Amino acid sequence: MLKEMDQNFVLHSYARNYVNFVKAEGATIWDDKGEAYIDFTSGIGVVSVGHANPRVSDAICDQAKKIIHISNLFLIEPQARLAKSLVEKSGYDMRCFFANSGAEANEGAIKIARKYGEVEGEPKRYKVITLKHSFHGRTISTLKATGQEKMHTYFGPYPDGFVYADDVDHIASLIDDHTVAVMIELVQGEGGVEPQDKAKVQQLAKLLKEKDILLIVDEVQTGIYRTGEIFASNLYEIEPDIIAVAKGLGNGVPIGVVMTRLKDIFKPGDHGSTFGGNYLVTRVAYEVLEILEGYKSSGGLDEAMLYFEERLKRFAQEYPDIVEKSVGLGLMRGLRIKSADLLSSLVEKAFEERLLVLKAGRNTLRFLPPLTISRKEMDEGFARLELAFAQTKG
Ligand SMILES: *Cc1c(COP(=O)(O)O)cnc(C)c1O
Repeated sequence: MLKEMDQNFVLHSYARNYVNFVKAEGATIWDDKGEAYIDFTSGIGVVSVGHANPRVSDAICDQAKKIIHISNLFLIEPQARLAKSLVEKSGYDMRCFFANSGAEANEGAIKIARKYGEVEGEPKRYKVITLKHSFHGRTISTLKATGQEKMHTYFGPYPDGFVYADDVDHIASLIDDHTVAVMIELVQGEGGVEPQDKAKVQQLAKLLKEKDILLIVDEVQTGIYRTGEIFASNLYEIEPDIIAVAKGLGNGVPIGVVMTRLKDIFKPGDHGSTFGGNYLVTRVAYEVLEILEGYKSSGGLDEAMLYFEERLKRFAQEYPDIVEKSVGLGLMRGLRIKSADLLSSLVEKAFEERLLVLKAGRNTLRFLPPLTISRKEMDEGFARLELAFAQTKG
């Protein structure tokens, strides 16, 4: 019934699994039959402080009873507080613009770069270099920024000015007089969970600074403590000009942020969003940051990251016929699987064991658990993953 309703009235843009989840807590989700699943996906890196986190639920209820939305034509107290919190915790001297999603945050990043290229120096510059296998969003321009040609089959004509580098080493050779920015993920999320080399990224950042080319870091997936620091940029010890943030910031309320050290780039009217940064989402995101900062400074986050990594490395050792290697950073992790067929089988078997996991790229089994996942939930999840592996022949 529900399935038919969905299929009859919702466009078929997702390959949907028709399980009906009705309740969740921490990293555990229950379906309508009362079966409990372990969540190693956190809704694709979104539910960073766990499902039904009481501090988040309280913030939502309290704020909903006061004000959810007025508009960006007026001061929004929790928005100002969240901006200050993001800037201070990052250590970067920046200002924030609030949007509603990762793609929108990246749109904002591209607009900032394009405006910079138009108003600073001659000739006017507009080209943005991105990486092959990157993922930056589904709007027309962020789709074009995404360095996967197969995703550009339809929807053209696209905006000009996006250039794809094979890897970080290849970027310098693509720079010309029209290049205004380079946009990268420090760990490609959809592309296969492969972290970039720190020394190479630092070298790139230095080169771009010398050439007055902006460095945009798409931290939509890596940001908000996913790799251990508030931003992966902090971990890589670089100073981006622009950072895009979204997934893990709102614990499920839709929010995107673009932060930049170009503090005066926008004048009133240059950019805007009706919903962006409203009372509800910014109040919640502020609470999420407080929770995660506390968890990080207690040592809990680093402990969970080490444990999760240890457990995954054991799978790589125990199943050399199935796993090529363990990849990733922090709680953004993957197992590189020997074939796409084996990967599909593992995801399927894991689901049968009531464990939610993700795919990335062609052959990566991807893990994005809630950052606050308990030891007990990790152990239960890995016991189920073990069953899935045992049923898969390499
Ligand atoms: C998910 C993701 C996006 C797109 O975010 P949406 O909220 O789906 O628009 C962009 N960049 C990266 C790196 C992502 O992981």
